[in-house]
Amino acid sequence: MKESCLPSWERELLDAPIVDVHEHHIPTIFLSNRVHLLDLFRHSYAAWTLRRPYPLPSEHEREDSSEPVMESFGWEHLSPYLDQRGSNSFVRNLSRGILAIHGVEDAKEIHQGNWEALNARVIQSHLQKGFQANILKRANITRVITDDYTDPLLDARTCFGSGYYSVMRINAFALGWHPDSKDHNGNSAMQLLDRAGLHPETFEDYLEALGFLTRQMKNRGQLALKNALAYDRSISFSAPNLDLARRAWGKRNPAETEKLAFGDYIADHFCKLAAEIDVPIQMHLGTALIRGSHPMHVAGLVERNPGTRFLLMHLAYPWSRDLLAMAFVYRNIWIDLTWSWLLSPSHFESALHEAIEILPDEGRMMLGGDNWHIEETFGTMQTFRQLLLKTFHEKVVSGYFSERDALRLGHRILHENAQSFFAHA
Ligand SMILES: [Zn+2]
Repeated sequence: MKESCLPSWERELLDAPIVDVHEHHIPTIFLSNRVHLLDLFRHSYAAWTLRRPYPLPSEHEREDSSEPVMESFGWEHLSPYLDQRGSNSFVRNLSRGILAIHGVEDAKEIHQGNWEALNARVIQSHLQKGFQANILKRANITRVITDDYTDPLLDARTCFGSGYYSVMRINAFALGWHPDSKDHNGNSAMQLLDRAGLHPETFEDYLEALGFLTRQMKNRGQLALKNALAYDRSISFSAPNLDLARRAWGKRNPAETEKLAFGDYIADHFCKLAAEIDVPIQMHLGTALIRGSHPMHVAGLVERNPGTRFLLMHLAYPWSRDLLAMAFVYRNIWIDLTWSWLLSPSHFESALHEAIEILPDEGRMMLGGDNWHIEETFGTMQTFRQLLLKTFHEKVVSGYFSERDALRLGHRILHENAQSFFAHA
């Protein structure tokens, strides 16, 4: 349907502002002025169809995520994405975003006949200063919270400007028993603390240093803590056991039970710090180290910390129903829909139907892009608006709620909920 034929509430939501609560806009990637078409695929979820960027516990070596810089490339480098994986949702979303921004002659697909013209436009656009900011404006994304996992202490305002904020990732700290221990992104707790002028010698010093770093978050424009430990270990966080956690301290290779107890203790410690200064904790749930990433694993942590606000991510794909039931039971849970519609748009539609029905109030849902380049973010937000409208339309047509309800809830999901959720920070 043409936009002009849509009911007014749908047109309004197609253009409503978005507060984007989760991106991986990393200054060296997002703002680079040397980007070509293949780079957009290699720094996107489309690349995850070729290779997981994180190792499984059975894979002892850290996977090398660095890729050779390619000055020139051919169709044979794009065809693994577009010919062999063209039906995958990540590939489709990214292709739509690229075509919406750089499209030539109303092309619906990227193919052997148009990729060179598209590539030339991509290169040219990224050379222009302010290109990314202009596309954000076109998508009507008014604020962005970015998770730069290459620098958990990033002050995003210094590189991206005043509309940007960041999160402080806690993964390295939950694995920080020894100066050599690192998270799956290669971050070391001791190096991060060293940068902040903190040099803990005992476990108790370490806990105090983490408190100091957390209380400084506002100075760095950091609005939330981010727990992405589902990529490093099971998220089955046991009740804190100080003695067992302390036993890992200073050891290069602690026993597995000691490592887990260390991480459990730190995860809980951050929950208490977050409650103390009233910043939320954003947490990855669902597909990652998949044997240990079921949302029910974090029920204990959520229940032990009723004063902490948890923003639980990705509709815990594929366990959305379990997460929604948890959000009905525990009223300190909010839902970050980010990534879920990229994994599977059709699953997202059915989960959104249920989320509307079961969540205890309309202030619970928000969204983010979860992307590296502006083309993917643009495609992701376009896809979101379409899926939101389709689902709301079905709710209106079935008589579940009215157009007025749809409009009110739409504004809440797109921007109002995030504004009030992060207002205290
Ligand atoms: Zn993410």
